[in-house]
Amino acid sequence: MESTQAKKPPVIWLNVTVFAVTFAVAIIGTPLWAYYHGFDWAQITMFVAMFTFAGMSITAGYHRLWSHKTFEAHPVLKGIFAIGGALALQNSILHWSSDHRVHHRHVDDNDTDPYSAKRGFWYSHIGWMLREYQKHRYSDYSNCRDLQKDKVVMWQHKYYLPLVLATNFGIPIAFGLLHGDIWGAIILIGFLRVVASHHTTFFINSLAHIWGSQPYTAKNTARDNGILAFFTFGEGYHNFHHIFENDYRNGIYWWQFDPTKWLIKSGSWLGLTKKLRVTPQDRIEKARATMLLKNIQARLSMTPNATQRLQAIEQEYEALVVRMSEYYEAKKRLIDMGKQNLLKKYEEAILVQQLKILKGDFIQQKRNWQMLTANYA
Ligand SMILES: [Zn+2]
Ligand SMILES: [Zn+2]
Repeated sequence: MESTQAKKPPVIWLNVTVFAVTFAVAIIGTPLWAYYHGFDWAQITMFVAMFTFAGMSITAGYHRLWSHKTFEAHPVLKGIFAIGGALALQNSILHWSSDHRVHHRHVDDNDTDPYSAKRGFWYSHIGWMLREYQKHRYSDYSNCRDLQKDKVVMWQHKYYLPLVLATNFGIPIAFGLLHGDIWGAIILIGFLRVVASHHTTFFINSLAHIWGSQPYTAKNTARDNGILAFFTFGEGYHNFHHIFENDYRNGIYWWQFDPTKWLIKSGSWLGLTKKLRVTPQDRIEKARATMLLKNIQARLSMTPNATQRLQAIEQEYEALVVRMSEYYEAKKRLIDMGKQNLLKKYEEAILVQQLKILKGDFIQQKRNWQMLTANYA
């Protein structure tokens, strides 16, 4: 094993150069230009707009649309995401999605997960792209055959380099010409923006697997983190995402910051997105309750004389699961029958009444559970 440790794979000089040069120009150039020439509000607004365009093309397009197929998009919207993805400079849709599907499938496996968080912060953040760690699969897209049938994906893959140059230089230069400060635009909207786009996305592979809570599962390192979500258009709810990857949402509660979800949802009102996939609510609630129970079991197993307390909590958990499935199953049955017009008016009234009772029981049980577990949450 020692020899493999010593022999690191060859450096990918193109990537190293791109990351190093963009970072250096952004970090040194931005403050110098701000000091000697200054930036005005038009430039700052354009910076935020292009950062958002690139970022959400990755989160809504590359990630939730293409990698996970959590919804379907109109070809025009796909085209916009494909161009914004080139602006983000994170490789083609096909390549990115292939890596990402391997990441989900083999999460935390140091040999197969391309950006395994178990290999540390630096490796999962950027190190994995600096050397040929997984050269054998760089052009193996067999896990993305569906995407190989997507014309927009293949068009972007074929013209990736010209698209990268056209967007990353073309947009800042065009804006600079219109606005009257070409170099300022290149530094701010070209360099600083691409560095910001890079590292906010990279934080999902590094920080979102290190820092935050695990409300749904502890089977992998992914975390929920509201602060990260703020800088990553909602992708910080990564613990939820790794257990329910087919859900178009990452932050499922209304108070969670997930503008990618809001974009996809509002797209559906305009006919730009459709077939938005969501996880059944009972599966989400059950995962949360089970995770909480496991945490309590782990804590109480270390506490002396806690057997009775633990038993009581386990009983409440069992009751909660029963009430939960009774309620959600009845609700689903009612909706299904309603859809098929199987019900007469009076039958429906009876079922609605029964559902109300089940809901009441479930809510009551949920309160009991919350009260009992409040000290452990
Ligand atoms: Zn994902
Ligand atoms: Zn992840």
